[in-house]
Order: sequence, then structure tokens, then C-alpha cells
Amino acid sequence: MSDPVLTVRGLRKHFATGGGLSRATAVTVRAVDGIGFEVGAGEAFGIVGESGCGKSTAGRAILRLIEPDAGEIVYRGQDVRAASGAALRALRRRLQIVFQDPYSSLNPRRSIGRALAEPIEVHGLAASAQEVRARVASLLDEVGLPADAAERYPHEFSGGQRQRIGIARALSVEPELIVADEPVSALDVSIQAQVLELMRRLQAQRGLSFVFIAHDLGVVRYFCQRVAVMYLGRIVEMGTAAELFGDPLHPYTRMLRDASPVPDPALRGRMPRIEGETPSPANPPSGCHFHPRCPHAMPACRERYPEETRVGGRMVACHLHGPGGG
Ligand code: SF4
Repeated sequence: MSDPVLTVRGLRKHFATGGGLSRATAVTVRAVDGIGFEVGAGEAFGIVGESGCGKSTAGRAILRLIEPDAGEIVYRGQDVRAASGAALRALRRRLQIVFQDPYSSLNPRRSIGRALAEPIEVHGLAASAQEVRARVASLLDEVGLPADAAERYPHEFSGGQRQRIGIARALSVEPELIVADEPVSALDVSIQAQVLELMRRLQAQRGLSFVFIAHDLGVVRYFCQRVAVMYLGRIVEMGTAAELFGDPLHPYTRMLRDASPVPDPALRGRMPRIEGETPSPANPPSGCHFHPRCPHAMPACRERYPEETRVGGRMVACHLHGPGGG
């Protein structure tokens, strides 16, 4: 990894849910429970895990779309959590997000041209209306949409085209880092490949960094250089995509790897499934949160959460690989 542009340490976000007006019955959901990682300049860093593991909450907390409870977020030397006013607005231009469902963030009554022009105008990135129009045309071209898309409305586009619009919108303010939250998981496999290819090209051409959030390790393997695997609010393994895919150390990473879609249709019917249900982050199992589903669980796993241990260049939190484990 090149020098980190984004450093996250001890990031935590808990939510109080349920209970109505009664505090006695409210429960705390430990959506993100103290995670840390770094993202290099021009690097695509993946966060992968099942639904409810906290990965989307982590992505939003990094951008302060929701306020973290604790932890450090430093972007190019700047303390993101301490930023306010003009400094926060400037950071929000440099750090953008692409959502799984871009439709929900597009106003159905506003043309695509207006949707792309608005952020350019808000951030004062063009000197004239003519320059705004030229930028919109160039963005549409860059994401592979026809020029007349500017006159059309969100409902006139397919899912893949809408995601291209979502990407163009993020690019409209010349960002440096994009948090892509499940950007292809709602798309058909063939469309997924096209959108991923577009993002890869943009990453190379613009030198963009990505925090790429997905539940499918196969997609992350294609797009990312390094990957963190999250389970119930914590990172359980982190390393290069090649290491995690080729030789997963944590039993959960192995389970995700074995369950990721196989390109060969003939093998898909024999695809293993992820065993067991994910426990609730409101009530995580004692010790290693993964122990009720783990085929290697031993007594220590029920009692103590495993320490984060370095194995070669990667980090793993599992008693099999911790001090005295194996
Ligand atoms: Fe399995 Fe124990 Fe490792 Fe958790 S710590 S993943 S239960 S072996």
C-alpha cells in the first residue's frame, strides 16, 4: 500500500433501538464496534461481510453521514470528526458516496442534467452555465451514457444506467475518495461486470481511492487490492484480496469465500451455502462472536474475544492463529 490517505482507528457506532418510550427495554445494537484500517492513495479497499455486519454503517460513519460515537478518522492529515462548517463541506466534496440504489437519491422530477449540474453549482466548480453544461456532457460520456440522457428523467433508465448516473453524480465534484456501498449488488451479473469495469477504469484514470463495501467476496476480489472482513461489528481478518481469497485464515472468511458465486454455471448448483444465521448485533455471542457457527470452536472461543494477531502481512482475530493457538 502507498502512504495512507485515509486512516480509521477504533471507529465505533452503537444504536439504541426498541423499547419505545421505555429505556428499560431498549437494546443497544453494536453496529460498528471498534474497527481500524488504512486506505492508500489510488487503492480500492474492500469491506466485506453479511447483511447486518456493520459495513454500511462504517461507510456512512467515515463520511459522517451518521455521527460516530468514538474513534479517529483522518483524511490526508485532517481530522474528519473535528471538521465543521466550511472545512466539513470541503471534505464532503473530496469524499463521496455511491449507494446501492441510486434511484432513492435522485429526485424523480429532476432531469439527469439538473441532478448532475446541481453539485457542480453548489460547490462553485464552474464559472458559467455553459461550463456547467459542458461538464455534465463530459461526465455522461465518461460513464458511458448518451448525451441526450441529460434531458431525461430517472425512471427512463435501467438499473445499470442509474448506477452509472450515481457514479457520474459522485464524480461531478471531482472527489478523491469514493465510498461505494454495495454498488453492484442489485444488478444482474452481466451488468455488474460492466459497472465494475467502469469503476476500475475511473479508478485508474482519475487516481481515485475507494472504500468498496459488498457482501460478495468474489466481487471484492475483482475490484479491491486489500480487504477487511467484518463480522458483527468487528474486523476478523484483513489482508490482500489474493491472500484472503487464496488462503483464508479466519473460518468466517473461508465460509464467505466458499459461498461466493462461481463463474462456471455448471458448478453453481454445488455452491456451498453460508451455514447458520448471523446472530443479532444487539446480542452478540460471548467470546468470539462467530463461535456458534464455527466448525473449529473450542472452549476458549466461548470465553474470550480473540486478540488481533499479525500473520505475515495480514491481521486475523481467531484463537487458531492467536498467541498459543493452532
Ligand atoms: Fe472459530 Fe474460535 Fe477462531 Fe472464533 S476464535 S473463528 S470460534 S476458532
